[in-house]
Amino acid sequence: MRYFEIRGPAENAESQWSGEYRAHHRWHLSGVECPRYGVWAWMDAFPSVDLSHVPEPVLSEWKGPTSLEEYNRLVALVRPFVPPELPVRAGTAFGPMVGTARGRFGPITCDPPWEVVLREDAVELLKSEGLIGVIAVRMELRSRRSTTPALYELESRPLARLHPDCIGEWKTPACDICGRPESFSLPPKRWLLRSSIPEGLDVFGIEGANPRVVSERFVEVIQRLGPADVTYRELPSAD
Ligand SMILES: [Zn+2]
Repeated sequence: MRYFEIRGPAENAESQWSGEYRAHHRWHLSGVECPRYGVWAWMDAFPSVDLSHVPEPVLSEWKGPTSLEEYNRLVALVRPFVPPELPVRAGTAFGPMVGTARGRFGPITCDPPWEVVLREDAVELLKSEGLIGVIAVRMELRSRRSTTPALYELESRPLARLHPDCIGEWKTPACDICGRPESFSLPPKRWLLRSSIPEGLDVFGIEGANPRVVSERFVEVIQRLGPADVTYRELPSAD
């Protein structure tokens, strides 16, 4: 199976679609101020996770970084509601995106690069074609026009890893005070560690990196719905 990163439109490419949305996830863990490394926040978003039963209003406010003590308190509250295979880290967003939308949307949208949005017919087609790992959560968007189709955010779980050879030496080590994982800047030339690819899944994310990864099959199915303002870049893998 070949895999591709989903990216926004190519530079200079003419837009096919006018759609725009302004939205944020319903719940959010703030960044944290670590005594060793300073303020940090990760970029994960798990729209399928429902925190409506967590009795803590702070999670629905978008606030600046908190103290380590407050952060640890919030993580302990949230953790039982998050599937064990998903990380809970500073900066992570949960729940559906809520906001407004306008214009006409293509079958798939990727802007900013860490948010992939699907039109309802695209979600249905991916499911009817039997693709695996497609977690699409309906966005709660208000629109002036009733013709705006339902939109879904594609959840991408950080299951795969980049190959250590493409990351190189430029890493910030993990921190045992606040639990910050090892981090690195996204290498321009990159490939996956083959043994980390979740076999059989058509959608997944990369630990510590933004790009959303989809299978060749995913690309082929979505392209049947016509033009979209996204590009795909092949992501090779190596042992
Ligand atoms: Zn730390």
